[in-house]
Amino acid sequence: MKTAKLTGIRRFEIREVPDPKIVRDDDVLVRVATVGVCGSDVHYFTDGRIGAQVVEFPFTVGHEAAGTVERVGRAVRRVKPGDRVAIDPTDFCGECDQCRAGRPNTCRRLKFLGCPGQLKGALSELLVLPEHCCFPIAPSMTFEQATLSEPLGIAVYSVERTFPGPGATVGILGQGPVGLSVFHVLRASGVGNVYATDKIPERLAIAGELKPAWSGRPDSPDAVGEILSREPLGLDVVYECSGDPAAWLQGARLCRPGGRLVIVGIPEVDEIALPVHELRRNEVTLYNIRRQAGCTQKALDLIDSKKVNVDSLVTHRFPLERTQEAFALAAGYKNGVVKAMIEVAP
Ligand SMILES: [Zn+2]
Ligand SMILES: [Zn+2]
Repeated sequence: MKTAKLTGIRRFEIREVPDPKIVRDDDVLVRVATVGVCGSDVHYFTDGRIGAQVVEFPFTVGHEAAGTVERVGRAVRRVKPGDRVAIDPTDFCGECDQCRAGRPNTCRRLKFLGCPGQLKGALSELLVLPEHCCFPIAPSMTFEQATLSEPLGIAVYSVERTFPGPGATVGILGQGPVGLSVFHVLRASGVGNVYATDKIPERLAIAGELKPAWSGRPDSPDAVGEILSREPLGLDVVYECSGDPAAWLQGARLCRPGGRLVIVGIPEVDEIALPVHELRRNEVTLYNIRRQAGCTQKALDLIDSKKVNVDSLVTHRFPLERTQEAFALAAGYKNGVVKAMIEVAP
């Protein structure tokens, strides 16, 4: 089969490798249709690492995927050959303290698709995964929509954990695929006024379709002042979805006393200084979001029921052979890219 391998910093090569085989009784062999390019994949492309997770080249990245089941192990009940599936990239053990506490996203033996040292990624024609990672999708759902259930699942999880309820005022810093997904889920959850920032005009335009109370650049002239002039009491929740350290500071200043600052974006840096006295005096609660737990089916249901329409997130499409181009585009934030989709076998 063909696979796109990251062979160095900012370098992909398309290689022919042996087809993966079903090994365990609960394994499923999936013919991959689409793979979304995620900000985390882009970090591996540009820096070769995220924090302590370092790529050993060559390596196959990619964890947002959908496809068709080709073959299944003997014990598989959940799916059968021919089923179209969305893929949840988290393989957890189900036995450790974290799994038993309902936190498979922080499983002690967690293996994540396309994560260095864990599992090979999805940018290949074929993929073998345990059955619990495969979610059958409705005939009306496209592979692209199924692929978007991964970032949407993170948004569902973020909102589920932190959104106080209908009418709450919210800031969303960063209108990339995850920020926009959070916006979509909040809209479906009855959010009140939403304040949205991003540096890229095309992203603000897409956020505009979701009717923010105000949207603009984070850095000019004074986004925090603009927002607080409209919400003098501060915001109930701020979702930091940009990974920009400056946005953490803005988020801390935007929260009302007793508010929540939710960190969803992945920073490129290893440390960020925070205004501790503002956070402390205002009793702002800091939430960290680690991917998601148990939200893949919920995300698929939101798409399927048309409560959320994520189609506008996909701005660019590339065949597997042009993976390099897709990543260069996403890394450079060029041409208004939000989600670049690799069509492995559309
Ligand atoms: Zn992702
Ligand atoms: Zn576990």
